[in-house]
Amino acid sequence: MRDYDNENIFAKILNGDIPCDKVYEDTHVLAFNDITAQAPVHILVIPKGKYVSIDDFGAHASAEEVTAFYRAISKIVAEQGIAESGFRCISNTGDHGGQEVPHFHVHILGGEKIGPMVSK
Ligand code: AMP
Repeated sequence: MRDYDNENIFAKILNGDIPCDKVYEDTHVLAFNDITAQAPVHILVIPKGKYVSIDDFGAHASAEEVTAFYRAISKIVAEQGIAESGFRCISNTGDHGGQEVPHFHVHILGGEKIGPMVSK
């Protein structure tokens, strides 16, 4: 397991050092628009806890945090009006997964057909 880097950019957003374009927040979750949107809707959903990756989150987060995270995704896609048209959730993980920011996040992409699942 990689150690959590307190200087990562999402940690700085969470502690208020860097602003974000917030779309949702509750006790355990923050969601904001991706700064480099790759679809009409491109939102990043992050837990407020210090988890490096989806596997770290699944292994170590409390049941309350895990529930809050999934509930938040459901609320966000409903609020964004993409629940019916569809969307894609992606969580890039580690080197092979192409993860740039080492704080667990899920990308929600929607608002148009997102294209092939994997392109090389
Ligand atoms: P990943 O490659 O899955 O780690 O994705 C990291 C994502 O964070 C990329 O899509 C970036 O565009 C996005 N990103 C980086 N910095 C910011 C920021 N300050 N605000 C919003 N999104 C960001």
